[in-house]
Amino acid sequence: MKSGQCPKCGSKAVYSGADIPLKSGPFSSNAIPIGLTSMAALDNYVCVDCGLVESYVADEYMLKKIARKWKAVNETADEEA
Ligand SMILES: [Zn+2]
Repeated sequence: MKSGQCPKCGSKAVYSGADIPLKSGPFSSNAIPIGLTSMAALDNYVCVDCGLVESYVADEYMLKKIARKWKAVNETADEEA
């Protein structure tokens, strides 16, 4: 999706909201809670042909935080980290 092609329908009409203002903040729901006090802003990619949305956490610090705080779905991921 980030490369500009929709993985679902193959369309290249993919638009990125990575640079929109107010990605996260009090009026935005475009973020996910990481822990009690931290939120990670999301970059959204939308295919305007089929409507598929993909969201990415761009903040490196938040990604590390998630790896520390969240439970790994695949338990071997913890060993590699
Ligand atoms: Zn699509």
